Amino acid sequence: MGHDSRRLWEEWVATNIGGDDARRRNALDAVLQALAVGKSSTEAADAARLAVGAPAASVLRCRFCGSTPAVAMTVFEHNGYIVVFRTKTLKGPFCRSCGLYAWRKMTDTTLLRGWLGVISFVVAPLTALVNLVNRRKLAALPDPQAGTGLRSPSDPGPNLFKRPGVYVYAAMIAAGFVFYVLPLMRG
Ligand SMILES: [Zn+2]
Repeated sequence: MGHDSRRLWEEWVATNIGGDDARRRNALDAVLQALAVGKSSTEAADAARLAVGAPAASVLRCRFCGSTPAVAMTVFEHNGYIVVFRTKTLKGPFCRSCGLYAWRKMTDTTLLRGWLGVISFVVAPLTALVNLVNRRKLAALPDPQAGTGLRSPSDPGPNLFKRPGVYVYAAMIAAGFVFYVLPLMRG
């Protein structure tokens, strides 16, 4: 490692770890050891915090692939089975790729057949709406950083408009309008 990067890490330790000389030396040693065996900068930073007993989990990692950055959020899916229904919740943190993968799959399922039932007819669109609002958190996230995860992030797959759910739901609403609302208005 060059002198420059050692100096940068000394500054990082001073800013992020702080404390007396011994504490900072311990943290720096942990960083240098981690880097020497090929760990990433994020892992080296975690090692430094661990060495001085500070919580290492200040960085959120994707629950699926371990990548950073990740955001804490929940994705919902609603399934109606005429009389009964089932709600699925998937809690993060997610990286952008894995989060979009789950978001697209679960929102599509909700729109595709989630509304099939008396209660579900109301709950499914609300579920899709909650997902839509929460999606902003994923959209604001940069792509997962290569090398920070334990495995490759999921391929998000085709977006919602290239899946059937949106169209099936729109067709269902249109059919409901034609067969129920229009006759009522005429009567
Ligand atoms: Zn991920």
